[in-house]
Amino acid sequence: MQCLECGTELQRLENEHLFSCCGLTLHEYALRHHMPLDLILSPDQINVADRVMDYARASACPGETARSLLQGFRLAGLLKDEGEFTVLPGDVRRLDLLLWNLQYLKDFGFRFRQEYRFDTATNRVVADNRLKARRSNLARQYGMELSLVPPPDFLMALAGCIAQVGELHAGYLFIPVPGRRDAQEIIGSLKRLRNISMVMLETGEPGGGVMLRSHRRADSDRLFESLRELLQMMPGVWERFHVTTPEVTVVKELVFDSAHFITDHPAKCSNLHGGRYTLQVKVAGRIDPVTGCVIDYGYLKRVVNQRVVDRFDHHNLNFVASELAWRSSTEMLCVYIWEQLIDYLPGMAELQLYETQQSWCHYSGPDLKSYQASGSSFLLHHFDELDVRSLQLREQIMDGQGGRLSVVA
Ligand SMILES: [Zn+2]
Repeated sequence: MQCLECGTELQRLENEHLFSCCGLTLHEYALRHHMPLDLILSPDQINVADRVMDYARASACPGETARSLLQGFRLAGLLKDEGEFTVLPGDVRRLDLLLWNLQYLKDFGFRFRQEYRFDTATNRVVADNRLKARRSNLARQYGMELSLVPPPDFLMALAGCIAQVGELHAGYLFIPVPGRRDAQEIIGSLKRLRNISMVMLETGEPGGGVMLRSHRRADSDRLFESLRELLQMMPGVWERFHVTTPEVTVVKELVFDSAHFITDHPAKCSNLHGGRYTLQVKVAGRIDPVTGCVIDYGYLKRVVNQRVVDRFDHHNLNFVASELAWRSSTEMLCVYIWEQLIDYLPGMAELQLYETQQSWCHYSGPDLKSYQASGSSFLLHHFDELDVRSLQLREQIMDGQGGRLSVVA
């Protein structure tokens, strides 16, 4: 086999050769030369069992940065136990960040591993880039770290967490946090230390976690400013959130079957009737240079299902929400759906809602900043908020004697 980097003829390609020849790992080499790993690796390089005895024990006194980073990875739910090992998963696009973490996490006995395994689901060889340590090295550390004395540095831990799992959408920072108590701690500490507000969103995250979002764009700015020095130390992290990339609009289409009627409608729409609605949710934003995506379609689908489809599907729209009881027109539905989603999708650019294939409308509502300033549209709240008793003319409804409603026989 010939190395495509230096032209040397080799028995087989190994990381040892590539490191000295071009500094790439086999996985990166495969991507650079768009070759499947199956072609590059020999069978004895695949599914190699790792021996725990080859891994160091933790140092007696791990450094402060190592402790804080570990806490950050625990908050992000990234540390996974695998047999006798604890693993921090990496990403081939961000090997530099993984290796930056490693220089500190060595204190806990972590090593970098690029492991190749045959994936029976896809029938191909895949590579995992990860840091690995003896599980026993961390047993005491990441169970109850908040109670350890002294506690790990909060801002460093948060920076480590954001570097791995944070995402920026329309200027709002999103952080998925698997533990609700951890999420509360983050909210409380940021408020106390830096007067930064985060809100907790229920987004149906796998495993029952929650999503933290900066309350306002100004909170994102303050948070990035507070963490600037830490994030700038980590390779590629500050750039990831701040570099200019192309803006793209992504669209998710979902359907629901609902019945409705239009109160007072002069024609047949006053009858209860049903149909299949098609909802297209469009989200615009910059491409995240690490994920290659504007937003995860899975997240988009989860949120729209949870906030809209699961509530509307196989229901009478007039009775699903008081805001729609009077007018469940597609126009009113659009305004209502927009308000259900904007907190979760601040990059939302447009909704397109089809009541039939021949009848639809589209709507671009206020962005999150304007929505926070103006609140919910008055259109939706006529019957919610109207205090009928304050309208003196209402007395005319009464017959003036027994206080009974006039009835036309
Ligand atoms: Zn070479």
